[in-house]
Amino acid sequence: MENFDYDLLVIGGGSGGVRAARIAAGHGARVAICEEYRYGGTCVIRGCVPKKLFVYAAHFHEEFDDAAAYGWDSTVNSFDWSTLIANKDKEIDRLNGIYEKLLLNAGVKVFHQRAELIDAHTAQVGDQRLSAQTILIATGGTPFVPDIVGSEHAITSNEAFHLPAFPARTLVVGGGYIAVEFAGIFNGLGSDTILTYRGPQILRGFDNDIRDHLAGEIVKKGIDLRLNSTVEQIQIKDDGTHNVTLTDGSSVDVDCVMYATGRTPNSANLGLEKAGVALGPRGEVLVNEDSRTNIENIYAVGDVTDRIALTPVATMEGHAFADSVFGDRPWLADHTNVPSAVFSQPPVATVGYGEEQAREKFASVQTFSSEFRTLKHTLTENTERSFMKLIVDQDSDRVIGAHMAGADAAEIMQGIAIAIKAGASKAQFDATVGIHPSSAEEFCTMRVPD
Ligand code: NDP
Repeated sequence: MENFDYDLLVIGGGSGGVRAARIAAGHGARVAICEEYRYGGTCVIRGCVPKKLFVYAAHFHEEFDDAAAYGWDSTVNSFDWSTLIANKDKEIDRLNGIYEKLLLNAGVKVFHQRAELIDAHTAQVGDQRLSAQTILIATGGTPFVPDIVGSEHAITSNEAFHLPAFPARTLVVGGGYIAVEFAGIFNGLGSDTILTYRGPQILRGFDNDIRDHLAGEIVKKGIDLRLNSTVEQIQIKDDGTHNVTLTDGSSVDVDCVMYATGRTPNSANLGLEKAGVALGPRGEVLVNEDSRTNIENIYAVGDVTDRIALTPVATMEGHAFADSVFGDRPWLADHTNVPSAVFSQPPVATVGYGEEQAREKFASVQTFSSEFRTLKHTLTENTERSFMKLIVDQDSDRVIGAHMAGADAAEIMQGIAIAIKAGASKAQFDATVGIHPSSAEEFCTMRVPD
C-alpha cells in the first residue's frame, strides 16, 4: 500500500471542510486542511454571521419607534457605520480564531495556503507537495455578477461588509435570499433603497402567498421594489454618483449598486481536471449521495457541489462524509425537509413544500393560513403584519410544509421543522397546546382550511 503524508487532505476551511476535518481527526485520521483566506468560510467571514449582525443593527431603527408607544423617550439622532463595522470585525476575528483553535485542538495540521491538485492524491500547497489517501473539496462559492456595461462599478455582498462609507442611496439587484436580506439592511440603516428583480415576484421557489406577503411588507417599510426589471447599464458621473439604467426604461441615481444574483461554485484553478474530477454545467463538483465524486478517493461537500447552499447542510454533508469514511459509521446526509430562513425585515422561514410544489406532488392538498398583527404592535403605529401557512397532505393528514413571514420566524420554524421531520399530522398540530400569548401558537390553532 502506498505511503501518503495524510489520510485526509481537506481543501477549504469553511463550515463543511472544518467539520469534516475535525470529525475525521476525532476518528483517528491524520488530517491536513488548506485555506487560502481565513478559516470560517463564507458563513462566518462574509455571510450568515456578519449579515445577521447587520440585520440586528438595521432593526433597531424600528424598535426605537415602537418603544415610544410603550412610553420610552427613544429619540435617536444618528447611526455610525464605522462603529458597526469595527465591532462586527472584532467578532469575526474572534470566530476566525475559534475555528482555527478547534482544528488545532482536534490535531489537524492547518495550512494558510491555497491547494491545487496535481493528481488524485497530491496537492501543491505553497512550495510543498502533500499527498493524501482521501481528498475532500470544500471550497464553497463566490458571488456571480452578470456581464453588463459598468458591472465593474457594482459591489457584491463580499464588499458590502467593508464599505468605507454608508451609502445614502442604494440599488440592490436580485430577488433571492441575499438581495432581499441586504435590501432590508440598507433600508433599515437609513439608505434610500431600491430592490430590482427581473421576475414578477421576489423569492422564486418560495410559497407564493409568502412571497406576496413579504413583498407587501418590505414596500410598507420603505423599500422601492421594482419587479420585472433589472439593470441594463451602470455609468459613473463626475461626482461619483452611479447612474443606473434599468431594463424598464427608467434610470436612477444611487451611491451604491449591490448585485446579489446568485453564487457560482469555486471549482476553477483547483487542479480538478488534473485529478479527473467531473464538473457540471455551472462548474459544480458532481457527487453522489455520499458526496463522492467520479474519482474514488475524492469527495466534495458544501456550496461547491451546488446542492443546497446552506451552512448547516454543508456541515451535515461534511460530518456524514467523515463518519462514513473514517469512523466506520456510514450515514447519508438527508436533504429532505431542510428548513431555512430569509433574514429579511420581517424575516421569512420555511420548511417542506410550498403550496404550488405540494399541489404538483400530492393528489389532495389542504392549506391553512393566518394573517395577523402581533400583540406587540397593538400599541405601536407599526403596521407590520405576520403571515403563517401550513400545507397538509389530506390523504395522510401529514403536515408537509410550514411557512411564516413575521417576527422571530426563524426561531419559531426550527421547532416546527422537528415536528415535520418527525412526520407530524395536522391532528397532532391541533392537539398541541399553544403558548399564549405568542405568534407561534397560531401554528396550533389554524382549524379552518383556506
Ligand atoms: P439566489 O439563487 O437565492 O438568488 C439569486 C437571484 O438573482 C434570483 O432572484 C435570480 O433570479 C437573480 N438572478 C440570477 N441571475 C440573474 C441575472 N443574470 N440578472 C438578474 N437577476 C439574476 O442567490 P443568492 O445570491 O441570493 O444566494 C445564494 C445562496 O446562498 C442562496 O440560494 C441560499 O442557498 C444561500 N443563502 C442563504 C441564506 C440564509 O439561509 N438566510 C442567506 C444568503 C444566502 P431568478 O429567481 O429569476 O432566477
